[in-house]
Amino acid sequence: MSDCLFCRIAAGAIDADVVHSSEGVMAFRDVSPKAPTHLLVIPREHVASVADLTASHEGLLVEMFDVIRSLAGRESLDGGYRVVTNVGADAGQSVDHLHFHLLGGRALGWPPG
Ligand code: AMP
Repeated sequence: MSDCLFCRIAAGAIDADVVHSSEGVMAFRDVSPKAPTHLLVIPREHVASVADLTASHEGLLVEMFDVIRSLAGRESLDGGYRVVTNVGADAGQSVDHLHFHLLGGRALGWPPG
């Protein structure tokens, strides 16, 4: 079993509050939410970050954004929402498995820290 935290969640080895599960993509609630809605959307396949994406991930990315759009609707984020992905240490990436944060349910400041 991989020691990647999100690979372990995708494999069901670590519990998460799962809100979407399909063959290629999973989404679950962030354990330390920064907004009323704070979801993480991940590929089941291990990709470390945006920096490792290639043209072969085109279909996966389309599916991930379909899931994001669908979850934003389910969470009634009618006022808007933010999709964020951190890449590397300077951006604060703490889990080296690609994930999109879906944040909403309150007004979000800009620019981020
Ligand atoms: P990042 O810092 O952009 O890499 O985002 C990683 C996110 O994963 C953080 O917002 C954490 O709160 C979240 N996180 C860490 N462990 C878990 C877990 N076991 N279940 C759900 N979310 C987690």
